[in-house]
Amino acid sequence: MSLNPRLVKESFSVVEPQAERATAYFYGRLFAENPHLRAMFPPAMNVQRDRLFSALTRIVWSLDSPDSLAAFLSQLGRDHRKYGVIAEHYTAVGNALLATIRRFAADIWDHEIEAAWVAAYTAAANMMIESAEDDEGVSPAWWLAEVIDHELRHRDIAVITLRPTQRLPYQPGQYVNVQTARWPRVWRTFSIANAPRKDNTIRLHVRSVPGGWVSTTLIRHTRIGDTLMVGSPMGTMTPREQSMRDVLCVAGGTGLAPLKAIIESIIASGRRPNIHLLYGARTSGELYDLPDLIAMESSFPWLRVLPVVSDEQSYDGMRGHLPEVTQRFHSWAEHDVYVCGPPAMVNETVRRLQIDGVPLSRIHRDIVQAER
Ligand SMILES: Cc1cc2nc3c(=O)[nH]c(=O)nc-3n(C[C@H](O)[C@H](O)[C@H](O)COP(=O)(O)OP(=O)(O)OC[C@H]3O[C@@H](n4cnc5c(N)ncnc54)[C@H](O)[C@@H]3O)c2cc1C
Repeated sequence: MSLNPRLVKESFSVVEPQAERATAYFYGRLFAENPHLRAMFPPAMNVQRDRLFSALTRIVWSLDSPDSLAAFLSQLGRDHRKYGVIAEHYTAVGNALLATIRRFAADIWDHEIEAAWVAAYTAAANMMIESAEDDEGVSPAWWLAEVIDHELRHRDIAVITLRPTQRLPYQPGQYVNVQTARWPRVWRTFSIANAPRKDNTIRLHVRSVPGGWVSTTLIRHTRIGDTLMVGSPMGTMTPREQSMRDVLCVAGGTGLAPLKAIIESIIASGRRPNIHLLYGARTSGELYDLPDLIAMESSFPWLRVLPVVSDEQSYDGMRGHLPEVTQRFHSWAEHDVYVCGPPAMVNETVRRLQIDGVPLSRIHRDIVQAER
């Protein structure tokens, strides 16, 4: 079976505009053929549908970059252990996926495309199964973590400190899925906001979204002493350890969390690059971590923290939107750049940085918040 990324991408681009109907069909088919699998999923499937499609999109479009695809799939395989996924589930998912693509790309479907999808799915599933198997016996499928601190820094934003009951190995910049006791099987992703610590504690920066299941629970109904479940760490926006370059970090809202972890790890490494952190929020009250950042700045003179506020006329510091503010400075073309925040902010910042001569290979990004 040989891989043919071109055929997979071409047929997937026919399905992409019908994403919503296709994912609904996929889950309908999966549960009709395998009713016992329904219990593994949360009662409300909306976020799950988006997740499936965004993972599939990422896999299909990175079929030509085997290294980054392998890294992503092995993280995904490990993370899926928390759902209780076993090898035979991949066959059920593969059958439903193939039926879905066949149906939504019916106009162009032929044997060659079918063979290309079977080969791609088999290779991807095998990689995920192998990484899950390798992980068994080394790591738990999930970690229990006690809430040891809960600071409400703004009406909608809390900084929560957790102590996992077993060692949680991760790299700065990574994120974890979190489940609360209030919503079984509902997992949401949060970035770890600190570099690994000897005491194994991790911090999360959580903003509640209106009507949000998990974020609201974490902000309003979580107390010191509560226990959460934490999945396997994931994500590839990690510090470039060998690099001697200066660093620019652009953080929108709780997009600060992984960038703070990266900055902490650079400081701990003993390197002395100049680090600029542009930290943006709509109002000054939402710059929830500024006092901590100022303390970091005073103990590490190579760090410059630049708060930016977009929607508060009376703010007497730097005002504007991050993508545009980033361009007000001298060129960042020789820097390693890390960008994290809402999708529009991340995409626009990356676009402008590229125009200003920063090569894409030196821009590392993640998205932590959906659009409001
Ligand atoms: C890689 C990654 C890292 C992340 N890191 C963080 C982090 O460090 N801190 C953090 O606070 N969040 C982070 N998020 C977002 C987080 O995972 C959740 O999506 C968010 O907390 C909402 O989950 P919920 O269960 O509360 O809302 P849901 O129950 O999922 O959503 C409830 C309703 O709110 C809508 N909604 C969902 N998100 C938003 C939003 N942002 N604004 C407005 N409406 C919304 C939904 O469409 C739905 O109608 C991250 C996301 C990703 C993908």
